[in-house]
Amino acid sequence: MRKNVIVCGAGGFIGSHLVRRLKNDGYWVRGVDIKHPEFSESAADDFVICDLRDQHKYKKLFDRQIDEVYQLAADMGGAGYLFTGENDADVMHNSALINLNTLDNCREFKVPKVFYSSSACVYPEYNQMDPTNPKCSEDTVYPAEPDSEYGWEKLFSERMYLTYEKNHGINVKVGRFHNIYGPEGTWEGGKEKAPAAMCRKVAMAKDGDSIEVWGDGKQTRSFLHVEQCVEAIIRLMNSKNFNGPVNIGSDEMISINELAEMTIKISGKNISVNNLVGDEFEKKYGHRCPIGVNGRNSDNALISKELGWSPHYPLKDGMSNAFEWINKQVQSNKTESA
Ligand code: NAD
Repeated sequence: MRKNVIVCGAGGFIGSHLVRRLKNDGYWVRGVDIKHPEFSESAADDFVICDLRDQHKYKKLFDRQIDEVYQLAADMGGAGYLFTGENDADVMHNSALINLNTLDNCREFKVPKVFYSSSACVYPEYNQMDPTNPKCSEDTVYPAEPDSEYGWEKLFSERMYLTYEKNHGINVKVGRFHNIYGPEGTWEGGKEKAPAAMCRKVAMAKDGDSIEVWGDGKQTRSFLHVEQCVEAIIRLMNSKNFNGPVNIGSDEMISINELAEMTIKISGKNISVNNLVGDEFEKKYGHRCPIGVNGRNSDNALISKELGWSPHYPLKDGMSNAFEWINKQVQSNKTESA
């Protein structure tokens, strides 16, 4: 029988890709967000503008039997939004409220299964000091010491979802995303992530220019293409026995300067990298450089064992795909403002 599902955060980057996939797989999809998707029309059967912090309005979305909820709504952004400290109260309050409301609705309206999008930001800072050897296997999350309030909220909410499984019998699935990127992601305005920021800077630069890279560029990360992320979510939701929490990421680790060089090579331009650090950064932006932990990489042993999944899209190909899309946005913006 056709499943009815709600995707929270369906106007966002991963949510809008997920809606498209669920529709292709034959689900009836209600997308919910405070905004429509920015770059293309939602594929949802029904798209509702609703602030999920408002429980009175949120409840109205359960006017039919809902089989699954995918909870991706959060107050979030890239390093410039999450790691300066300026938005911490909003980040914690808004996202925690959305998660509390989601769980209470799943209980009240007897939704059997819910997916929660957690983050690699739950992992303790002390295991991510060495950029060449970060530890992010699922069992290293305690003793907890996330490096941001965003990470603390995700960890609190993970625990809350798991209590609703224990006490109220809802099947809870938790995925910890590691830096998802790809077409139709935020690429300007301060909430964009490193791959999108890099693509934008390179797309805007001319031969002979240099692009600014925050920090010394030695910090390491891994990045997962959004289509692969959606595939992993679906596999986790469809798994009979495995619920997570589980990493959903790539284990192809790269330094930020290498990512910059990769993007420059994809563009075919002659551009150099200017690392902005310490006092120089503070002088320009008025706060400390918000680079996050020194090293982070997805440990995929658990997901590969439990779901038989590992990403098969190399970063180079994914970044070419992301660059092509962001370059188009940059060029069409230039034409519009000309
Ligand atoms: P996104 O910001 O594009 O999507 C989040 C969506 O939530 C936005 O469209 C936003 O409008 C919506 N939202 C925020 N407050 C809301 C509210 N009060 N009511 C209704 N909607 C609201 O982010 P994304 O990259 O698509 O991330 C989706 C989820 O995955 C988030 O929970 C995020 O924390 C998590 N995550 C993402 C990444 C990543 O690399 N993109 C990494 C780790 C975790």
